[in-house]
Amino acid sequence: MGKNLIDVAIVGGGPAGLTAAMYAGRAGLRAVVFERGEVGGQVALTDWVENYPGFPEGIEGPALMERMKEQALRFGTEIILDEIERLRRAEDGRLLELVGVDDVYRARTVIVATGSDPRRLGVPGEDTYYGRGVSYCAVCDGHFFQGKRVAVVGGGNSAKTEALYLANLAETVYLIHRRDRFRGERILDERVRDRKNIELVLNTVVDEILGDQMVTGVRVHHVKTQETRVIPLEGVFVYIGLIPNSDFVRGFVELDEQGHVITNEHMETNQPGVYAAGDIRSGSLRQITTSVGDGAIAATRAGEYIAEVFG
Ligand code: NAP
Repeated sequence: MGKNLIDVAIVGGGPAGLTAAMYAGRAGLRAVVFERGEVGGQVALTDWVENYPGFPEGIEGPALMERMKEQALRFGTEIILDEIERLRRAEDGRLLELVGVDDVYRARTVIVATGSDPRRLGVPGEDTYYGRGVSYCAVCDGHFFQGKRVAVVGGGNSAKTEALYLANLAETVYLIHRRDRFRGERILDERVRDRKNIELVLNTVVDEILGDQMVTGVRVHHVKTQETRVIPLEGVFVYIGLIPNSDFVRGFVELDEQGHVITNEHMETNQPGVYAAGDIRSGSLRQITTSVGDGAIAATRAGEYIAEVFG
């Protein structure tokens, strides 16, 4: 077991997880990142990042994450592709066990950096037409909609950013938001309003996604007038917020009402040796900049804990 024992097991390979791995590696610890899909997290699904310091012109999300991965690997990080389904204390009361689909892993410390998944609209047609016009990732699927009409649903930074990205490809982007004011950065509001092929559809809720083989439109209603209409289009991109990926620690570490992991300022959870970093953390600003900070703090604290408890 000693040989296979992990010092810092990091669940999730986004900015928080990869930064934690880099810090742990540089501290001489054996760091393993567990990832169920592609390393890179939500940022790898983002077209363009222009608020990460050091890149004054901005940088493509996938390129930024490739660099973070390279940097973590350079300091000895191992990446294991497995989905961790449960975290528990080992029988000795000190070590931690990560129960994956493929194996069970033992670690001295664990950093939960699992971020979040896109929230679904929950309307008829959404599941039926997923992959046939319904998408949660403009960077992945936008190119299918060259010269076509698409809707972006949502009113936060993600909806605005992705509407701007899609406006470079699609003929028309309908930005459908349930209120008449957006959330998030004002600079993005202005850009969205200035873009000629983005049509704002405000105070409007999507009731159904329509289609035959593929999406053909959305049925919407205006929240004030209750007027219903169909907008003919070929694609629907849903950006209505995120759901924290914390099911695997539910009942083990303390979560807030929305399911985010509660930590103190050292990224410590209520379980000794278990930390959380990035979007999964209660109170996170959910920025790449804050996630990398969380990752650095969590890994440093994990190193101190290992020295104290395991000597
Ligand atoms: P968000 O900020 O939580 O915004 C979600 C949007 O979806 C809100 O406008 C909300 O409407 C709407 N919404 C929620 N549930 C809905 C439903 N059932 N039907 C219709 N609309 C619904 O989520 P996000 O835009 O995905 O961003 C997540 C986090 O990442 C945020 O903290 C954001 O700042 C961050 N982020 C930052 C950047 C950046 O810094 N440039 C880029 C992307 C994301 P209401 O406004 O009416 O509640």
